[in-house]
Amino acid sequence: MPSLLEQVRRYESEIIKIRRKIHSNPELANAERATSTLVIRKLEALGIRSTKVAGTGVLGVLKGRGNGKVVALRADMDALPVEEHVDVPFKSKKKGVMHACGHDTHVAMLLGAAMLLTENIEKLTGTVKFIFQPAEEEGGIGGAGPMIKAGVMSNPKVDYVFGLHIDATFPSGVFALRGGPLMAAPDTFFIRIHGMGGHGSEPHKTVDPIYVSSQVINALQGVSARMTDQTQPFVISVCSIHSGSAHNIIPDDALLEGTMRTFDEKTRSRSKKQLNQVTKTICRAFGAECEIRFKENTYPVTRNNERVALKVAHSLREVRGTRTIKCEPILGAEDVSRFLQRAPGVYYFLGTRNEKKGCIYPNHSPQFKVDEAVLKYGSVSLAKLALEFASQS
Ligand SMILES: [Zn+2]
Ligand SMILES: [Zn+2]
Repeated sequence: MPSLLEQVRRYESEIIKIRRKIHSNPELANAERATSTLVIRKLEALGIRSTKVAGTGVLGVLKGRGNGKVVALRADMDALPVEEHVDVPFKSKKKGVMHACGHDTHVAMLLGAAMLLTENIEKLTGTVKFIFQPAEEEGGIGGAGPMIKAGVMSNPKVDYVFGLHIDATFPSGVFALRGGPLMAAPDTFFIRIHGMGGHGSEPHKTVDPIYVSSQVINALQGVSARMTDQTQPFVISVCSIHSGSAHNIIPDDALLEGTMRTFDEKTRSRSKKQLNQVTKTICRAFGAECEIRFKENTYPVTRNNERVALKVAHSLREVRGTRTIKCEPILGAEDVSRFLQRAPGVYYFLGTRNEKKGCIYPNHSPQFKVDEAVLKYGSVSLAKLALEFASQS
């Protein structure tokens, strides 16, 4: 019996062709029309029943020969508002839009997994759901939530979910993962401080929102350093301040914006309360008023199931030509977190850093370049996990 790695040779050029086609025609969040049409066409050609879900999302369902588990494999499809600075024949044809996060490769690798799984349908004892989600880069509502609402995780209910992200920090052919929290929950906050403006020479006749802001910014670091368990990763950063118009006028208002990153829901909700309490108390102490708002519907923590992660690491280690390592958590965020809240599973990284090929720039860089030789490993890994977890008892 040939291995998946031997079988994938037949599909490799097709996988790369699909990736290049999507790369040259990148589409922004919730506008992935050509991409989802291509996905449906490819799935149908393989005999996989597929439907459009929640706008530009696509769900494909492949039933195997038995009543085994239901495994969902997820890829995101959207590009970024970045002007491409890589000179390749399949360079983006759209000004200011680029697949700078590699989601084009995710679509191609998942379609490659679909090719492998249809070839191995006799060995598939359960059902595989192929989830192609829009709008991962949207950062708030995203594309996963609406797809879940539309029912992609039920009927039949998904037992396991897997997905991968191509990543330029790891060398080509390296799988990186960990059990437990992998990526953070990102909470954007907005604080408007209302003071009372006046002359810069007479601060005692004003309520100076700039001075109050400086106290608030200092105190917020205390939420991190003095109110949070130091064994919990936690970041709070004020990244924008807007206030004032001239050197001698104390303004009425100041607007602060920032981000809070946490790895567990308890720390997350407690820190939000503490941010509120600290900010309000300081403002009140100096006679200012404030409005505090958190962006709604931001992504939850991306949490890998510990038990499943052990099995996945073991399984990936069997893919010849690759290496599997344990990685540290990162403070970025991912919409895949919403699928992982609904079913146990694992999100993992596939390295694409290759100095010889000039693949050295990070994801989201206008010079981001993928080592296409690793795409076959991505397809094999997804197909392998689907086959193995579909037959779990
Ligand atoms: Zn990204
Ligand atoms: Zn991404």
